[in-house]
Amino acid sequence: MINVDPLEIDKFSELAHRWWDPHAEFRPLHDINPLRLDYIDGIASLQGKAVLDVGCGGGILAESMAARGAEVTGIDLAEKPLKVAQLHLLESGLQVDYRLVAPEALAQEKRASFDIVTCMEMLEHVPDPAVTVNACAELLKPGGHAFFSTINRNLKSYLFAIVGAEYVLRLLPRGTHDYSRFIKPSELAALIRNAGLQMTAIIGMTYNPLTRVYSLGSDADVNYILHATKL
Ligand code: SAH
Repeated sequence: MINVDPLEIDKFSELAHRWWDPHAEFRPLHDINPLRLDYIDGIASLQGKAVLDVGCGGGILAESMAARGAEVTGIDLAEKPLKVAQLHLLESGLQVDYRLVAPEALAQEKRASFDIVTCMEMLEHVPDPAVTVNACAELLKPGGHAFFSTINRNLKSYLFAIVGAEYVLRLLPRGTHDYSRFIKPSELAALIRNAGLQMTAIIGMTYNPLTRVYSLGSDADVNYILHATKL
């Protein structure tokens, strides 16, 4: 049994052709990318590292990590976004190895193979995030770094991530996110521990609708990134 929700895959597939349009549905991913890229690079130093991007979609983060000198593999279960990602390499001239495979399946084949595993804005779209976190941990080399980002679950995150982003500001299409799948940092921390990883930091990602600027900081009430290492 694969840990996937076919409706989620359909949702991302339908929008795939607009993945690289910085003004369309995936604008928030384009806007946050420089921040998360610098965060990852600052901690784990991408140059020359074997990196796995889990749930890579159209490859916004995957490509940018390759541009920093990492050897990137990008995996997803949605075929169209992967095709878009593959095509975009022709434009960028970068190299990323894109594969249609679930992390838990890849973990059978490539145990302890990656220096860095990133899994961004993806856990809130899978039926059982524990399965994904465990697979990411297995794929990581001892001493490796894991980065997960997702959305916190509380009244504020409901108001900002769903009401604000999908209905008021229309940054995201309606139905992009399901509140019940949001994950509290404490819950993700427990999944991390159970997977044999050690959490080192949680950093918040906030959006100011007036200035349209995203920033990283201590406010993890809505979006956040968790960093963990494998001992
Ligand atoms: N990580 C990328 C894309 C986030 S969108 C970024 O932050 O830029 C979420 C992605 O997760 C989509 O591409 C979707 O197809 C993928 N996804 C959803 N469920 C998945 C699953 N079970 N296994 C692998 N990928 C999945």
